[in-house]
Amino acid sequence: MALFVQKYGGTSVGTAECIEAVAEKVCGFRNKGHDVVVVVSAMSGETNRLIDLANSITEEPAPREMDVLVSTGEQVTIALLAMALQKRGCEARSYTGGQVSILTDSMHTKARIRKIDEQGMRDDLDAGRVIVVAGFQGVDENGNITTLGRGGSDTTAVALAAALKADECQIYTDVDGVYTTDPRVVDSARRLERITFEEMMEMASLGSKVLQIRAVEFAGKYNVPLRVLSSFQEGEGTLITLEENIAMEQPVVSGIAFNRDEAKVTISGVPDTPGSALRILKPVSDANIDVDMIVQNVGEDNRTAFTFTVHRNDFNRAKDVLQRVSDELGAREVSGDTKIAKVSIVGVGMRSHVGVATTMFEALSAEGINIQMISTSEIKISVVINEKYLELAVRALHSAFELEKPAVEETM
Ligand code: ASP
Ligand code: MG
Repeated sequence: MALFVQKYGGTSVGTAECIEAVAEKVCGFRNKGHDVVVVVSAMSGETNRLIDLANSITEEPAPREMDVLVSTGEQVTIALLAMALQKRGCEARSYTGGQVSILTDSMHTKARIRKIDEQGMRDDLDAGRVIVVAGFQGVDENGNITTLGRGGSDTTAVALAAALKADECQIYTDVDGVYTTDPRVVDSARRLERITFEEMMEMASLGSKVLQIRAVEFAGKYNVPLRVLSSFQEGEGTLITLEENIAMEQPVVSGIAFNRDEAKVTISGVPDTPGSALRILKPVSDANIDVDMIVQNVGEDNRTAFTFTVHRNDFNRAKDVLQRVSDELGAREVSGDTKIAKVSIVGVGMRSHVGVATTMFEALSAEGINIQMISTSEIKISVVINEKYLELAVRALHSAFELEKPAVEETM
Protein backbone atom coordinates (compact mmCIF):
# COMPACT_ATOMS: atom_id res chain seq x y z
CA MET A 1 0.00 0.00 0.00
CA ALA A 2 1.19 3.44 -0.83
CA LEU A 3 1.37 6.80 0.90
CA PHE A 4 0.11 9.63 -1.26
CA VAL A 5 0.19 13.32 -0.60
CA GLN A 6 -2.59 14.80 -2.71
CA LYS A 7 -3.07 18.48 -3.34
CA TYR A 8 -6.38 19.88 -4.56
CA GLY A 9 -6.25 23.38 -6.01
CA GLY A 10 -8.75 26.21 -5.72
CA THR A 11 -11.06 25.17 -8.57
CA SER A 12 -11.14 21.60 -7.26
CA VAL A 13 -12.54 22.86 -3.94
CA GLY A 14 -14.42 25.85 -5.37
CA THR A 15 -17.86 24.91 -4.01
CA ALA A 16 -19.33 22.66 -1.31
CA GLU A 17 -20.21 20.14 -4.06
CA CYS A 18 -16.63 20.15 -5.31
CA ILE A 19 -15.40 19.55 -1.78
CA GLU A 20 -17.77 16.58 -1.50
CA ALA A 21 -16.40 15.25 -4.78
CA VAL A 22 -12.85 15.54 -3.45
CA ALA A 23 -13.95 13.69 -0.31
CA GLU A 24 -15.35 10.89 -2.51
CA LYS A 25 -12.07 10.62 -4.34
CA VAL A 26 -10.02 10.56 -1.15
CA CYS A 27 -12.32 7.88 0.35
CA GLY A 28 -11.76 5.83 -2.79
CA PHE A 29 -8.00 5.84 -2.13
CA ARG A 30 -8.52 4.98 1.54
CA ASN A 31 -10.78 2.08 0.62
CA LYS A 32 -8.01 0.67 -1.52
CA GLY A 33 -5.85 0.73 1.60
CA HIS A 34 -3.64 3.70 0.78
CA ASP A 35 -2.58 6.30 3.31
CA VAL A 36 -3.51 9.81 2.26
CA VAL A 37 -2.41 13.26 3.31
CA VAL A 38 -4.49 15.93 1.60
CA VAL A 39 -3.32 19.50 1.07
CA VAL A 40 -5.91 22.01 -0.05
CA SER A 41 -5.95 25.53 -1.43
CA ALA A 42 -8.50 28.17 -0.61
CA MET A 43 -11.78 27.96 -2.54
CA SER A 44 -11.23 29.50 -5.97
CA GLY A 45 -11.21 33.29 -5.94
CA GLU A 46 -10.99 33.44 -2.16
CA THR A 47 -7.34 34.50 -1.87
CA ASN A 48 -7.92 37.28 -4.39
CA ARG A 49 -11.03 38.36 -2.53
CA LEU A 50 -9.07 38.63 0.71
CA ILE A 51 -6.26 40.58 -0.96
CA ASP A 52 -8.81 42.99 -2.46
CA LEU A 53 -10.37 43.47 0.96
CA ALA A 54 -6.99 44.37 2.43
CA ASN A 55 -6.31 46.78 -0.40
CA SER A 56 -9.64 48.46 0.17
CA ILE A 57 -8.41 49.38 3.64
CA THR A 58 -4.83 50.32 2.91
CA GLU A 59 -2.53 50.47 -0.07
CA GLU A 60 0.30 49.08 1.99
CA PRO A 61 -0.95 46.39 4.31
CA ALA A 62 1.71 45.09 6.69
CA PRO A 63 2.97 41.76 5.33
CA ARG A 64 2.49 40.10 8.71
CA GLU A 65 -1.20 41.04 8.79
CA MET A 66 -1.56 40.05 5.15
CA ASP A 67 -0.46 36.54 6.10
CA VAL A 68 -2.91 36.39 9.00
CA LEU A 69 -5.61 37.38 6.53
CA VAL A 70 -4.90 35.29 3.44
CA SER A 71 -4.13 32.13 5.40
CA THR A 72 -7.78 32.03 6.48
CA GLY A 73 -8.86 30.93 3.00
CA GLU A 74 -7.20 27.54 3.37
CA GLN A 75 -8.47 27.13 6.92
CA VAL A 76 -12.04 27.18 5.63
CA THR A 77 -11.34 24.44 3.11
CA ILE A 78 -9.59 22.05 5.49
CA ALA A 79 -12.48 22.12 7.95
CA LEU A 80 -15.09 21.57 5.25
CA LEU A 81 -13.15 18.74 3.65
CA ALA A 82 -12.59 17.02 7.00
CA MET A 83 -16.35 17.22 7.63
CA ALA A 84 -17.12 15.80 4.21
CA LEU A 85 -14.72 12.91 4.85
CA GLN A 86 -16.13 12.21 8.30
CA LYS A 87 -19.66 12.20 6.89
CA ARG A 88 -18.53 9.36 4.65
CA GLY A 89 -17.20 7.37 7.57
CA CYS A 90 -13.63 8.21 6.71
CA GLU A 91 -11.64 9.26 9.76
CA ALA A 92 -9.98 12.59 9.16
CA ARG A 93 -8.44 15.54 10.94
CA SER A 94 -7.75 19.00 9.65
CA TYR A 95 -4.64 20.97 10.54
CA THR A 96 -3.32 24.44 9.80
CA GLY A 97 0.26 24.77 8.60
CA GLY A 98 1.43 25.69 12.07
CA GLN A 99 -0.34 22.71 13.63
CA VAL A 100 1.45 20.18 11.45
CA SER A 101 4.65 21.96 12.28
CA ILE A 102 5.60 23.57 9.03
CA LEU A 103 8.30 25.88 10.30
CA THR A 104 9.31 28.68 7.94
CA ASP A 105 11.55 31.72 7.97
CA SER A 106 9.94 35.08 8.76
CA MET A 107 9.75 36.46 5.21
CA HIS A 108 6.04 37.25 5.32
CA THR A 109 4.10 36.63 2.07
CA LYS A 110 7.02 34.70 0.56
CA ALA A 111 8.33 32.55 3.38
CA ARG A 112 10.47 29.49 2.82
CA ILE A 113 10.00 26.21 4.61
CA ARG A 114 12.81 25.38 7.02
CA LYS A 115 11.65 22.31 8.84
CA ILE A 116 8.72 19.94 9.11
CA ASP A 117 8.17 17.77 12.15
CA GLU A 118 6.40 14.78 10.68
CA GLN A 119 5.91 12.73 13.86
CA GLY A 120 2.40 14.01 14.53
CA MET A 121 1.35 13.13 11.00
CA ARG A 122 2.83 9.64 11.35
CA ASP A 123 0.78 9.08 14.49
CA ASP A 124 -2.41 10.11 12.70
CA LEU A 125 -1.62 7.90 9.72
CA ASP A 126 -0.87 4.97 12.02
CA ALA A 127 -4.25 5.54 13.66
CA GLY A 128 -5.87 5.23 10.23
CA ARG A 129 -6.75 8.87 9.74
CA VAL A 130 -6.65 11.00 6.64
CA ILE A 131 -4.75 14.20 7.35
CA VAL A 132 -6.09 17.37 5.79
CA VAL A 133 -3.56 20.20 5.77
CA ALA A 134 -3.99 23.86 4.86
CA GLY A 135 -1.67 24.63 1.97
CA PHE A 136 0.35 27.80 1.46
CA GLN A 137 1.02 28.50 5.13
CA GLY A 138 3.38 27.86 8.01
CA VAL A 139 4.63 29.54 11.15
CA ASP A 140 7.94 31.17 11.95
CA GLU A 141 9.95 30.42 15.07
CA ASN A 142 7.98 33.02 17.01
CA GLY A 143 4.66 31.49 16.07
CA ASN A 144 3.73 34.16 13.52
CA ILE A 145 1.63 32.87 10.63
CA THR A 146 3.50 33.01 7.32
CA THR A 147 2.53 32.23 3.73
CA LEU A 148 4.64 30.78 0.94
CA GLY A 149 3.80 33.01 -2.02
CA ARG A 150 0.96 32.70 -4.55
CA GLY A 151 0.41 29.13 -5.61
CA GLY A 152 2.24 28.01 -2.49
CA SER A 153 -0.01 25.04 -1.74
CA ASP A 154 1.93 23.09 -4.34
CA THR A 155 5.04 23.67 -2.29
CA THR A 156 3.31 22.60 0.92
CA ALA A 157 2.31 19.33 -0.75
CA VAL A 158 5.78 18.61 -2.07
CA ALA A 159 7.40 19.48 1.25
CA LEU A 160 5.06 17.16 3.17
CA ALA A 161 5.69 14.41 0.61
CA ALA A 162 9.43 14.87 1.06
CA ALA A 163 9.19 14.87 4.86
CA LEU A 164 7.00 11.75 4.89
CA LYS A 165 8.91 10.06 2.04
CA ALA A 166 5.58 9.59 0.28
CA ASP A 167 5.39 7.32 -2.74
CA GLU A 168 4.00 10.13 -4.86
CA CYS A 169 2.91 13.72 -4.57
CA GLN A 170 -0.20 14.16 -6.69
CA ILE A 171 -1.29 17.62 -7.71
CA TYR A 172 -4.98 17.61 -8.70
CA THR A 173 -5.92 20.60 -10.77
CA ASP A 174 -8.21 21.74 -13.59
CA VAL A 175 -5.94 20.50 -16.38
CA ASP A 176 -5.21 16.83 -16.92
CA GLY A 177 -1.44 17.13 -17.09
CA VAL A 178 1.47 19.03 -18.56
CA TYR A 179 1.17 19.65 -22.27
CA THR A 180 3.74 20.08 -25.04
CA THR A 181 2.42 23.63 -25.21
CA ASP A 182 -0.75 25.54 -24.35
CA PRO A 183 -3.63 23.66 -26.04
CA ARG A 184 -5.47 26.96 -26.43
CA VAL A 185 -2.78 27.99 -28.89
CA VAL A 186 -2.02 24.69 -30.59
CA ASP A 187 -4.90 22.22 -31.12
CA SER A 188 -2.57 19.29 -31.50
CA ALA A 189 -0.75 19.96 -28.22
CA ARG A 190 -0.27 16.66 -26.45
CA ARG A 191 -0.25 15.67 -22.82
CA LEU A 192 3.19 14.44 -21.78
CA GLU A 193 3.38 11.11 -19.95
CA ARG A 194 6.60 12.15 -18.28
CA ILE A 195 8.82 15.17 -18.05
CA THR A 196 11.99 15.78 -16.04
CA PHE A 197 12.18 18.09 -13.04
CA GLU A 198 14.63 20.26 -14.94
CA GLU A 199 12.36 20.63 -17.94
CA MET A 200 9.39 21.37 -15.75
CA MET A 201 11.36 24.06 -13.92
CA GLU A 202 12.18 25.71 -17.22
CA MET A 203 8.59 25.40 -18.44
CA ALA A 204 7.29 26.91 -15.20
CA SER A 205 9.75 29.78 -15.16
CA LEU A 206 9.12 30.45 -18.84
CA GLY A 207 5.42 30.95 -18.34
CA SER A 208 3.69 27.58 -18.11
CA LYS A 209 1.44 28.06 -15.09
CA VAL A 210 0.66 24.47 -14.14
CA LEU A 211 2.84 24.32 -11.02
CA GLN A 212 4.53 26.76 -8.69
CA ILE A 213 8.22 26.85 -9.67
CA ARG A 214 9.38 26.48 -6.12
CA ALA A 215 7.39 23.28 -5.73
CA VAL A 216 9.13 21.75 -8.74
CA GLU A 217 12.50 22.86 -7.47
CA PHE A 218 11.79 21.30 -4.10
CA ALA A 219 10.55 18.07 -5.68
CA GLY A 220 13.68 17.84 -7.81
CA LYS A 221 15.97 18.48 -4.88
CA TYR A 222 14.39 15.77 -2.73
CA ASN A 223 13.50 13.50 -5.63
CA VAL A 224 9.78 13.45 -4.83
CA PRO A 225 7.86 11.89 -7.75
CA LEU A 226 5.34 14.55 -8.67
CA ARG A 227 2.23 13.91 -10.73
CA VAL A 228 -0.14 16.49 -12.20
CA LEU A 229 -3.66 15.20 -12.78
CA SER A 230 -7.20 16.45 -13.29
CA SER A 231 -9.64 16.49 -10.39
CA PHE A 232 -12.50 16.30 -12.82
CA GLN A 233 -11.57 13.48 -15.16
CA GLU A 234 -9.84 10.12 -14.91
CA GLY A 235 -6.36 9.76 -16.32
CA GLU A 236 -2.72 9.18 -15.61
CA GLY A 237 -1.74 12.84 -15.81
CA THR A 238 1.93 13.74 -16.20
CA LEU A 239 4.69 12.35 -14.01
CA ILE A 240 7.54 14.71 -13.24
CA THR A 241 10.59 12.69 -12.38
CA LEU A 242 14.33 12.20 -12.75
CA GLU A 243 15.82 11.96 -16.21
CA GLU A 244 16.94 8.38 -15.60
CA ASN A 245 13.32 7.31 -15.09
CA ILE A 246 12.40 8.42 -18.58
CA ALA A 247 12.74 6.12 -21.57
CA MET A 248 15.96 6.18 -23.58
CA GLU A 249 14.19 7.65 -26.57
CA GLN A 250 13.92 11.16 -25.23
CA PRO A 251 12.47 13.61 -27.70
CA VAL A 252 14.91 16.42 -28.49
CA VAL A 253 12.37 19.02 -27.48
CA SER A 254 9.72 18.25 -24.87
CA GLY A 255 7.75 21.44 -24.84
CA ILE A 256 7.31 25.00 -25.98
CA ALA A 257 6.73 27.73 -23.45
CA PHE A 258 5.96 31.36 -24.08
CA ASN A 259 5.15 34.53 -22.28
CA ARG A 260 3.86 37.95 -23.05
CA ASP A 261 4.89 39.51 -19.76
CA GLU A 262 8.18 40.98 -20.81
CA ALA A 263 9.28 44.25 -22.38
CA LYS A 264 12.65 45.21 -23.76
CA VAL A 265 14.72 48.30 -23.18
CA THR A 266 17.76 49.45 -25.14
CA ILE A 267 20.44 51.94 -24.30
CA SER A 268 22.52 52.79 -27.36
CA GLY A 269 25.62 54.78 -28.10
CA VAL A 270 27.19 53.68 -24.82
CA PRO A 271 30.97 54.30 -24.61
CA ASP A 272 32.52 50.83 -25.07
CA THR A 273 34.70 50.75 -21.98
CA PRO A 274 35.32 48.18 -19.24
CA GLY A 275 32.64 48.43 -16.57
CA SER A 276 29.88 49.85 -18.73
CA ALA A 277 27.69 46.74 -18.32
CA LEU A 278 28.06 47.07 -14.59
CA ARG A 279 27.26 50.77 -14.66
CA ILE A 280 24.10 50.04 -16.59
CA LEU A 281 22.85 46.95 -14.84
CA LYS A 282 23.76 47.74 -11.25
CA PRO A 283 21.31 50.66 -10.94
CA VAL A 284 18.66 48.43 -12.49
CA SER A 285 19.16 45.73 -9.90
CA ASP A 286 19.44 48.35 -7.15
CA ALA A 287 15.96 49.45 -8.20
CA ASN A 288 14.87 45.84 -7.58
CA ILE A 289 14.08 45.22 -11.22
CA ASP A 290 14.71 41.67 -12.44
CA VAL A 291 16.47 41.42 -15.75
CA ASP A 292 15.91 38.38 -17.93
CA MET A 293 17.71 38.30 -21.30
CA ILE A 294 20.68 40.57 -21.93
CA VAL A 295 22.36 41.32 -25.25
CA GLN A 296 25.33 43.59 -25.88
CA ASN A 297 26.03 44.49 -29.47
CA VAL A 298 29.49 44.51 -31.01
CA GLY A 299 30.99 47.96 -30.58
CA GLU A 300 31.35 50.37 -33.45
CA ASP A 301 33.30 53.64 -33.20
CA ASN A 302 33.93 52.70 -29.57
CA ARG A 303 30.22 52.79 -28.84
CA THR A 304 27.95 49.86 -28.14
CA ALA A 305 24.31 49.11 -27.38
CA PHE A 306 22.75 47.08 -24.59
CA THR A 307 19.32 45.55 -24.75
CA PHE A 308 17.64 43.61 -22.00
CA THR A 309 14.20 42.42 -21.05
CA VAL A 310 12.30 43.10 -17.84
CA HIS A 311 8.79 42.34 -16.63
CA ARG A 312 6.29 44.62 -18.33
CA ASN A 313 5.22 46.02 -14.97
CA ASP A 314 8.79 47.28 -14.50
CA PHE A 315 9.12 48.76 -17.98
CA ASN A 316 8.58 52.41 -17.10
CA ARG A 317 10.79 52.24 -14.06
CA ALA A 318 13.52 50.50 -16.05
CA LYS A 319 13.38 53.21 -18.70
CA ASP A 320 13.64 55.93 -16.05
CA VAL A 321 16.66 54.26 -14.49
CA LEU A 322 18.30 53.90 -17.90
CA GLN A 323 17.65 57.52 -18.76
CA ARG A 324 19.59 58.53 -15.66
CA VAL A 325 22.40 56.12 -16.50
CA SER A 326 22.44 57.38 -20.07
CA ASP A 327 22.94 60.97 -18.92
CA GLU A 328 25.77 59.90 -16.63
CA LEU A 329 27.54 57.78 -19.24
CA GLY A 330 26.99 60.14 -22.11
CA ALA A 331 25.11 57.48 -24.07
CA ARG A 332 23.13 58.37 -27.18
CA GLU A 333 19.60 57.25 -26.42
CA VAL A 334 17.22 55.02 -24.48
CA SER A 335 14.39 53.25 -26.25
CA GLY A 336 12.00 50.42 -25.49
CA ASP A 337 9.32 48.11 -26.77
CA THR A 338 6.53 46.45 -24.83
CA LYS A 339 5.07 44.60 -27.79
CA ILE A 340 7.36 41.64 -27.60
CA ALA A 341 6.92 38.01 -26.64
CA LYS A 342 9.36 35.33 -25.60
CA VAL A 343 9.11 31.85 -27.06
CA SER A 344 11.24 29.01 -25.74
CA ILE A 345 11.87 25.42 -26.67
CA VAL A 346 12.77 23.16 -23.76
CA GLY A 347 14.20 19.65 -23.68
CA VAL A 348 16.93 17.68 -21.94
CA GLY A 349 17.37 15.88 -25.26
CA MET A 350 19.03 19.04 -26.58
CA ARG A 351 22.17 18.17 -24.67
CA SER A 352 22.92 15.28 -26.96
CA HIS A 353 21.64 16.67 -30.25
CA VAL A 354 23.14 19.23 -32.55
CA GLY A 355 21.18 21.39 -34.94
CA VAL A 356 18.31 22.13 -32.58
CA ALA A 357 18.81 25.87 -32.88
CA THR A 358 18.97 25.57 -36.67
CA THR A 359 15.63 23.79 -36.78
CA MET A 360 14.16 26.49 -34.56
CA PHE A 361 15.51 29.37 -36.64
CA GLU A 362 14.45 27.68 -39.90
CA ALA A 363 10.90 27.28 -38.66
CA LEU A 364 10.69 30.93 -37.65
CA SER A 365 12.32 32.18 -40.82
CA ALA A 366 9.95 30.12 -42.97
CA GLU A 367 7.11 32.10 -41.40
CA GLY A 368 8.95 35.38 -41.94
CA ILE A 369 9.29 35.97 -38.20
CA ASN A 370 12.19 38.18 -37.21
CA ILE A 371 14.20 37.19 -34.12
CA GLN A 372 15.12 40.16 -31.96
CA MET A 373 17.06 38.46 -29.18
CA ILE A 374 18.30 34.95 -28.46
CA SER A 375 19.41 33.26 -25.28
CA THR A 376 20.34 29.67 -24.65
CA SER A 377 21.04 27.31 -21.81
CA GLU A 378 21.85 23.62 -21.79
CA ILE A 379 18.22 22.57 -22.13
CA LYS A 380 16.49 25.61 -23.59
CA ILE A 381 16.60 28.15 -26.39
CA SER A 382 14.56 31.33 -26.04
CA VAL A 383 13.89 34.01 -28.63
CA VAL A 384 12.22 37.37 -28.39
CA ILE A 385 9.93 38.22 -31.29
CA ASN A 386 7.22 40.71 -32.12
CA GLU A 387 4.23 39.88 -29.94
CA LYS A 388 1.88 39.75 -32.89
CA TYR A 389 3.61 36.63 -34.25
CA LEU A 390 3.58 34.74 -30.99
CA GLU A 391 0.88 32.21 -31.81
CA LEU A 392 2.21 31.64 -35.29
CA ALA A 393 5.68 31.02 -33.88
CA VAL A 394 4.45 28.56 -31.28
CA ARG A 395 2.51 26.60 -33.90
CA ALA A 396 5.41 26.56 -36.33
CA LEU A 397 7.80 25.29 -33.66
CA HIS A 398 5.35 22.71 -32.38
CA SER A 399 5.17 21.15 -35.81
CA ALA A 400 8.87 21.63 -36.65
CA PHE A 401 9.78 19.51 -33.62
CA GLU A 402 6.93 17.06 -34.33
CA LEU A 403 5.48 17.50 -30.88
CA GLU A 404 2.05 16.36 -32.00
CA LYS A 405 3.45 12.85 -32.45
CA PRO A 406 3.56 10.68 -29.37
CA ALA A 407 7.06 9.99 -28.03
CA VAL A 408 8.39 6.49 -28.65
CA GLU A 409 7.91 5.26 -25.07
CA GLU A 410 4.18 5.88 -25.26
CA THR A 411 3.65 3.67 -28.30
CA MET A 412 5.58 0.73 -26.84
N1 ASP B 1 -4.59 30.14 -2.12
C1 ASP B 1 -3.26 30.51 -2.48
C2 ASP B 1 -3.27 31.25 -3.81
O1 ASP B 1 -4.30 31.47 -4.39
C3 ASP B 1 -2.33 29.36 -2.51
C4 ASP B 1 -2.63 28.30 -3.54
O2 ASP B 1 -3.72 28.23 -4.08
O3 ASP B 1 -1.73 27.50 -3.82
O4 ASP B 1 -2.23 31.65 -4.27
MG1 MG C 1 -3.36 27.51 -6.90
